[in-house]
Amino acid sequence: MLRNVRKFVFITGGVLSGLGKGVVSASIGLLLKLQGYRVSLQKIDPYVNVDAGTMNPYEHGEVFVTHDGKETDLDIGRYERFLDEGLSASNYLTTGQVYWNVIRKERAGKYLGETIQIIPHISDEIKRRIRLPLDETDAEIGVIEVGGTVGDIESLPFLEALRQMKDELPREDTFFVHVTLLPRLTTSDELKTKPTQHSVKELRAIGIQPDMIVARSDVPLPEPVKRKIALFCDVPIENVIDNPDLPTIYHAPLRLNEHGLTERMANGLGLDESRAPDLSEWVSRIGVLEAPSSRVRIGIVGKYVELQDAYISIREALYHAGTAEDVGVDIAWISSDAIAKEGTSAYLSDLDGILIPGGFGDRGIEGKIEAVEYARTNRIPYFGLCLGLQCAIIEFSRNILGLKDANSSEFDPETPHPVISLLEEQIDVALKGGTMRLGIYETNLLAGSIAAECYGRLKIEERHRHRFEFNPDYRDRLESAGMRIVGTSHGDQLVEAVELPDHPWFVGVQFHPEFTSRLLSPHPLFRGFVRSCLEPRDSSPSSS
Ligand code: GLN
Repeated sequence: MLRNVRKFVFITGGVLSGLGKGVVSASIGLLLKLQGYRVSLQKIDPYVNVDAGTMNPYEHGEVFVTHDGKETDLDIGRYERFLDEGLSASNYLTTGQVYWNVIRKERAGKYLGETIQIIPHISDEIKRRIRLPLDETDAEIGVIEVGGTVGDIESLPFLEALRQMKDELPREDTFFVHVTLLPRLTTSDELKTKPTQHSVKELRAIGIQPDMIVARSDVPLPEPVKRKIALFCDVPIENVIDNPDLPTIYHAPLRLNEHGLTERMANGLGLDESRAPDLSEWVSRIGVLEAPSSRVRIGIVGKYVELQDAYISIREALYHAGTAEDVGVDIAWISSDAIAKEGTSAYLSDLDGILIPGGFGDRGIEGKIEAVEYARTNRIPYFGLCLGLQCAIIEFSRNILGLKDANSSEFDPETPHPVISLLEEQIDVALKGGTMRLGIYETNLLAGSIAAECYGRLKIEERHRHRFEFNPDYRDRLESAGMRIVGTSHGDQLVEAVELPDHPWFVGVQFHPEFTSRLLSPHPLFRGFVRSCLEPRDSSPSSS
């Protein structure tokens, strides 16, 4: 496809982190896409980590996985959910990757005697990596979010690279959006612009003058406040866009568009200002989100429940499925540790469905296994994702097959019944970073299974992130006791999905369907699960 334009929108953050810069970036990407441009969204994480795979979900939230197997920050997931498109490894950039490449080149003698410096070698590598997603695809506009806050030491080389790009490209090919916070003093009920002024000053000291300020506040900005920001930060008043608290993140593109962001950005980039984004489908999804016909209560039983961002794709996938099924989803965040200590009924008795997400390490495992047993015996819809499938297999082995000490060798290397064991390909893997079974693999589904019905086809592709698998040595025993293997891969070698036929809805999958659910195209398995949670429950406990 012919590329008509090739431009860049850069999004920086000021004052403090956690201002929803990711939501602004995803919204800008969506608005440009709905104006008819081909867009590529990229996140720059100024951490020295090579990728997010080794980062603690307690601190950074979920590790998201792209189709080509890159472990990224959760913002990439948000971009995909807004854009309704898959992104790839090159859409995620860290300091670690930049230095890794430069040092590798230096070791290979590629710089031929040069002294390797931050400028130009590191900044050149950053610029190459910023252009890469556009070089690899037919995208016309790159939207690049710089993580962190202006003023951090870590982000300096990246901002320097952006400054250089601005000077190298025609004026209308770059557009800088600075996202800041306006705190409100409760005593005087006044929105303060000083922190915004200071962070713009900081940006200017690096050589970047923002073209637009998106100001985060708990209320809409009064005109005089906008005027003050415009004057002190040297941007036209129409380019001061407010970004007040909204009912959901999905309202952000609507609000930003209504307040002129699309038009002003088009103006700055020399694009057609009259091309209005077609937001009709987006608006109708939000309509259901705001006023669904009914509600269900779904429990997520995990070990990182104090930080919901650790399960952000699952939470959003449930909401997306709700919009398609006309149902509002209320999520109960349940700590698996608490279940292990205090028992299941205190936490699980008022739920319409139970979901066990992915996870690593043995903490909280026994609570999760108890939750599976509760869902199985009380006939509550159950959806197990990755570790959630593995817990379902352990529970079934212990309680139906009578293998009392059955476990995963991840949690008990000495178990006499390792019903979950290390994948063959993982046995000799010593390094931790980027070495799991990652990314897209094909699965063949069994005709007539719940999964096959949900997808409406027998061949599917889903993303993975795991080291352990259903141990094939136990497959026959579990199958003869009633567990149904409904999805396999690698010529039937690996088990990818299981179900319990005499249960209303019990599905465990080794992959991560949550990574491919989007507001405009909710995931079929999540839709099936949410639908089953709506069914009136026959509460008589099952025979086993
Ligand atoms: N810890 C398990 C494994 O590595 C499950 C991984 C996950 O839930 N993502 O196989």
